[in-house]
Amino acid sequence: MALIVQKYGGTSMGSVERIQNVARRVAKWHAAGHQVIVVPSAMAGETNRLLGLANEISAQPDPREVDMLCATGEQASSALLAMALMSQGVPARSYAGWQVPIRTDSAHTKARVKSIESERLREDLDEGRVVVVTGFQGVDEEGNITTLGRGGSDTSAVAIAAAMGADECMIFTDVDGVYTTDPRVAPEARRMRVISFEEMLELASLGSKILQIRAVEFAGKYRVPLRVLSSLTDPLLPIEEESVSGTLITFEEDLQMEAAVVSGIAFSRDEAKFTLLGVPDKPGVAYSILGPVAAANIDVDVILQNQSVDGTTDFSFTVNRNDFARTYKLLQEQVGPAVGAKEIIPDDNVCKVSIVGIGMRSHVGVASLMFRTLADEGINIQMISTSEIKTSVVIADKYMELAVRALHKAFELDQDPAEKDQE
Ligand code: ADP
Ligand code: ASP
Ligand code: MG
Repeated sequence: MALIVQKYGGTSMGSVERIQNVARRVAKWHAAGHQVIVVPSAMAGETNRLLGLANEISAQPDPREVDMLCATGEQASSALLAMALMSQGVPARSYAGWQVPIRTDSAHTKARVKSIESERLREDLDEGRVVVVTGFQGVDEEGNITTLGRGGSDTSAVAIAAAMGADECMIFTDVDGVYTTDPRVAPEARRMRVISFEEMLELASLGSKILQIRAVEFAGKYRVPLRVLSSLTDPLLPIEEESVSGTLITFEEDLQMEAAVVSGIAFSRDEAKFTLLGVPDKPGVAYSILGPVAAANIDVDVILQNQSVDGTTDFSFTVNRNDFARTYKLLQEQVGPAVGAKEIIPDDNVCKVSIVGIGMRSHVGVASLMFRTLADEGINIQMISTSEIKTSVVIADKYMELAVRALHKAFELDQDPAEKDQE
């Protein structure tokens, strides 16, 4: 008997029929003698619908009230799933985050999980029930409902798995695993059978929305075995088959095969770039520009400073596109005049494309193949940033899909590594 946490995303919970299918899948694991905790997302589109309503009422709705509102999506889907399980003869009970409780800090709309009480869930499991716990939400020390950021049900599931010492956390979604890149952008993308935590962490942090980054961080930190797999298989797979399907996210030392040089490609459209032209080049320039930006709680991502030839320099950086207007105002009103910039150039038509792979540590020439591939497509690179296992470029966002597909081909990600070895 194993203790399994299963998370089902919005599409998987998207209709009454799909909820009944989820119940059938959970019933299958329960009937085989496993203890199951299920963590559902809100039904597809529901969180966006609720946020839309909030924005109709106010351009900047109060974050505490946003959490009160958005948490209802998961509460509804959890209750519906518990009912579906019961109607199939499976004893089940659902809980909202505050009832468990799942304790978080008070950072509304992006709260972090601090601790999870396991007692209540354990009692239900021991009495043979399937336990359904709302994804995406918790409660802070003052008893306020909080939410964990978009895509946060992944993190709820992993955190519950860690707190309960589960044998595995299964993330059921609308694709059958983690692909070399988003199959919606490159249909030739290939499913990976395994991927290391480090690579998954980079892919998630560089924009790949298949898993919320905090879920991957949590799973790595607490060594929770994590699997991404499809909830849409019809008919249901037998347990032995399902339990080895999808993509396993595991530790580098456990990977059986030699690491691919580049394992995957991530991209993000949530980027905006600013360039300050003609800034006097002297010690403290970066601090005078980025200090006020950080003080305004705006995250800066890629930074580029040019060599000065005439005592002035050009300074560029990127921020999340949601922070575009705020950053531009800050630069125009405060930073630009203070540092003596001749001109400020805003650009919210950029994107970031990144290649990721632990094999990059031991191979040279990877970045240069990336740059050559983009050059061959006539794509201008505006900024570059590298770390040990990734190289990212900032380019015009109209080229994003072209860049992803060209890089996918150049790094032969469309080919099965096992077959490549035999060539
Ligand atoms: P859920 O609602 O189940 O949480 P998400 O929409 O959050 O599902 O995540 C699944 C989606 O992630 C897929 O439909 C796919 O378009 C996208 N995706 C992005 N990058 C990848 C990738 N590397 N592999 C697989 N899917 C990816
Ligand atoms: N319902 C939330 C969202 O849409 C959380 C999740 O689905 O993971 O972001
Ligand atoms: Mg998701």
